[in-house]
Amino acid sequence: MNFLRHFKYLIYPNVCRSCSEILNDSEQIICIKCVYNLPYSYFEKEKENEVFNLFLGRVPIEFATALCLFSSTGTIRDLLHQLKYGGQSEIGIKLGNILGKSLLESEFFTKPDVIIPVPMHPKKLKKRGYNQAEMIAIGVSEILDVPIQTQGLLKILNTKTQTKKSKFDRWLNVEKSFRSSQDVTISNKNILLIDDVVTTGATLEACSSSLYNMGNNKISLATLAFAQ
Ligand SMILES: [Zn+2]
Repeated sequence: MNFLRHFKYLIYPNVCRSCSEILNDSEQIICIKCVYNLPYSYFEKEKENEVFNLFLGRVPIEFATALCLFSSTGTIRDLLHQLKYGGQSEIGIKLGNILGKSLLESEFFTKPDVIIPVPMHPKKLKKRGYNQAEMIAIGVSEILDVPIQTQGLLKILNTKTQTKKSKFDRWLNVEKSFRSSQDVTISNKNILLIDDVVTTGATLEACSSSLYNMGNNKISLATLAFAQ
């Protein structure tokens, strides 16, 4: 299925990655109808939304949001799957553009000094060819006109799939897997941290803690989806 889909986009690059209809001249990657029908969370309209509340008592966060509500079936799951496993990096940029626009519309969002995508371990990056969180960050960066910094935060453990581990083991595993770079220091900055999906918040918590420990940074979080 994935192969067929991939093959189709090589022959017809101008079809919607969600519904496979031919795109018109004003549409790119995802058609207007599919963009309109995404399962939006509208979390950016309230400060104390479900994603923000996930981090209460764990790590100080200025603002947090997820563009969509994840469901095990449906458009956002399918698009994220293509972004992560189907080599469709442009989906990340397109959805990042939409996320960026939703951030600009939020009265609780302050324009950051820098955007940091959740890093990927170098081995995994080599295998996949790109970091999906960085693709989303590029899309957000285009809209906010804010630079991306990928050198300050590093993924030092190549964490394997975590589904069979207990919640606590998962947290321990994630907590130890990120650290700040010794070469690049980020301090006194308003940072927007980007990832594809937020579930337990363990990854974003670990990254935020590392960024805090670098010195006096304010951190906001944005993802494409929130999976309960
Ligand atoms: Zn479509």
